[in-house]
Formats: sequence, C-alpha cells, structure tokens
Amino acid sequence: MISAHRPSTAELMKLLPPLRGQLITNAPVGKQTWFGVGGPAELLFRPTDAADLAVFLSVLPPEIPLTVIGVGSNLLIRDGGIPGVVVRLGRGFAELKIEQAEIHAGAAVLGRIVAFAAAGAGIAGFEFLSGIPGSIGGSLRMNAGAYGREIKDVLISATALDRNGGTYIFDRRQMGFSYRRSGVDPGWIFVETHLLGTAGDHAVIAAQLAGIRCAREATQPVRARTGGSTFKNPPGNSAWRLIDAAGCRGLRRGGAMVSEKHANFLINTGDATAADLEGLGEEVRQRVCEASGIVLEWEIERIGQQLPEVKQVVSPFPRKRRPGYADLEPSQAKPGGRWPTGRQSPRTPASAGVTLQNERRR
Ligand SMILES: Cc1cc2nc3c(=O)[nH]c(=O)nc-3n(C[C@H](O)[C@H](O)[C@H](O)COP(=O)(O)OP(=O)(O)OC[C@H]3O[C@@H](n4cnc5c(N)ncnc54)[C@H](O)[C@@H]3O)c2cc1C
Repeated sequence: MISAHRPSTAELMKLLPPLRGQLITNAPVGKQTWFGVGGPAELLFRPTDAADLAVFLSVLPPEIPLTVIGVGSNLLIRDGGIPGVVVRLGRGFAELKIEQAEIHAGAAVLGRIVAFAAAGAGIAGFEFLSGIPGSIGGSLRMNAGAYGREIKDVLISATALDRNGGTYIFDRRQMGFSYRRSGVDPGWIFVETHLLGTAGDHAVIAAQLAGIRCAREATQPVRARTGGSTFKNPPGNSAWRLIDAAGCRGLRRGGAMVSEKHANFLINTGDATAADLEGLGEEVRQRVCEASGIVLEWEIERIGQQLPEVKQVVSPFPRKRRPGYADLEPSQAKPGGRWPTGRQSPRTPASAGVTLQNERRR
C-alpha cells in the first residue's frame, strides 16, 4: 500500500495562498491552556474571519492533521505538542449581537460574556454560562452545562465549516447533543451560533449570577491551573464522590495534584507536566475502578503526542493491579461485564447498570 506523502510545515507554507490571518510555526499553545502545560503546535493558524478560514481549509491537504482549540479550559495538551495544524479563532469571531431575546455570538466569544451581556439586556436563560470559562465554540463541541442547563437548551442553530471550507448550519437536533458532547464531526469548526433566551427580570438574573459565583468560589478551585471536571459523572453517580471514596483527594504526582477542594478537579501546582496530570488522572481511574468497579470516562480532552520517554500509565504506588485493566476501553469495562481474563469485574454493584462510551481519541 502506498501511503500519502504528508507535506512538511515548510512545504505546506509554500502551498498556501495569501491569507489574512496569522500563521505561527512551533506555537506554544500548551502554555496558553488553563492547565498551562503541554507542547507546541507544529503550525498555528489564527484566521481573520470565516472567509479567511474557509480559504485556508479549502487548500489544506487532507493528510495534514487538523485540530481546533478554544481557550483551552477543557484541554490537556500533551508534552510532545500537536502535530499538523491547530486553528484558534480570535477577534474576527468575537461579535455579539442581541435582538430581543435572541443572541448571535461568534465562536470565540466567552460563555461568561454571553451570560453578562444577556443579563444586561434583561434576558434570562444564560446564567449557567457565567461560571464556565470556555468559548462558545468549545461549549458547542462539549455541550457545556451547569446547574441543570446545557448549551443545547438555548441553541437555535450553529454555523460550522467542514474540512474543505464548506459552510453548514445545524439546528439543535442536527447537533446530536448528549452529555458533554456534540455529534458533529470533530474535524468541523464552529464559527458562530444563534441562541434564544427569555425575557427576564434584571434583579432575578443578577441574583442568579451572584448565586452561581458564590457556589463556584465555595466548591471549586477556580483560581487554580485546572481543566474543570476531569471525569464525566457516571449515570446516577458523581465522579467526585467515587474519587473521594477511593481515597484520591489530595493525591499527587510530580507537580500534579487532585484538588483538596473538589476531588474531580486536577491541578497544576506550578511545575506539572502534561504527563504528570494525565498519569495522575489514570491513577485515579485505576483506584476508582478497584474501589467501585466503575471505570470513569475522561471529560477533559487529552490531545497531542506524549514525549517518547513518557509512559501512558505509571503508578508510583505499590498496589496490586487487576489483570488487564490498562488494556480496557471504558465500553469493554461495563460494571458486571467480563474482564479479558474471563473473571468478573471487581466489586461491581449488580444494580449500577453503568454503560460508558468510548473515549474520544485524536
Ligand atoms: C474552572 C473550570 C470550571 C469549569 N466548569 C465547567 C462546567 O461547569 N460545565 C462544563 O460543561 N464545563 C466546565 N468546564 C470545562 C470547559 O470550560 C468547557 O468544556 C468549555 O466549553 C470548553 O471551551 P474552550 O473554549 O475552553 O474549549 P477547549 O478546551 O479549547 O476545547 C474543548 C473542545 O472543544 C473543541 N472546540 C473548541 N472550539 C471549537 C470550535 N470553534 N469549533 C469546534 N470545536 C471547538 C476543541 O476541539 C475540543 O474538542 C470548566 C473548566 C474550568 C477550567
């Protein structure tokens, strides 16, 4: 079989037509995420607007890997960086327009800006976005939510560009939303959205915003270098409760630590590497599996390459390991399911009935 030649960055630069946006080689995108760790992007493109992005996509050879990032509040970029092209939307995608209870927002607008702009205009329904630090593009991809509401509850439509630069508009049903994910092809880039709230009372909305701020300050390490909730809540359970019960609160690896304030948050205490954080997360998954039989699914997306000398899962703790654990995918490891050795999974509550989806991989 002949594999397609993957152009080098220098060859790619020569292929590209004049673009209005910025192209940066070896761009330190990892350091710009909330965790503040991880390697560079081979090539970062910051388009000026949607037309610029469409031209870029239309000439980008299909063999070149493409990754889009928002403000990196749900990302762990590995220490070896991201091969191929990374797209990050900036000012040209930050327009915000309000018409009665409808909001048009570019994908680079922060969710909290939408929440405060809506509050100022007396529009209710967006308060939940005030505590989520990501961009609208990221919230569409993740179906971001809090306090009983998700982006799907306020969405009329989202506009996205496909890998060839074609423009498509998705309504709520076509977005294929589920818990912390959208079903739209991960290679597509959201550029704007049209949202709908309801007319509300200024004082009531302001009280809701204040309540959310207090609740977050009290329960989450909001000023730490973190990626928010590390694992999805399994149906009928809370990830933090399972992590706590497995004795992982405060657990450390290198500069990475399980938050003392919220056990489902990992923290970079200052000098963590992405490998420390990912390794600690895997250690937590392992311990929770051993304690409860439940395999936690990562909510934080881990992207890019590990440095060659770093192993996927290294436990500094001399613990007896269940055979075959590290080879399991969450979908194979349903509580009550059979382990590769033919043994029943350990300590699985028969009633749990948890079915976990496969992790997203890049
Ligand atoms: C302190 C803290 C608290 C948090 N609390 C919550 C919470 O309560 N609820 C919640 O849901 N999340 C929470 N998060 C996680 C995070 O803020 C959300 O997932 C957010 O929606 C991610 O947006 P982002 O711009 O940071 O995306 P990134 O982290 O940069 O990317 C996340 C995903 O979105 C994709 N993406 C980003 N932009 C685009 C785009 N324009 N088009 C297509 N795909 C795109 C990326 O490819 C990636 O797959 C929290 C995070 C932190 C650090």
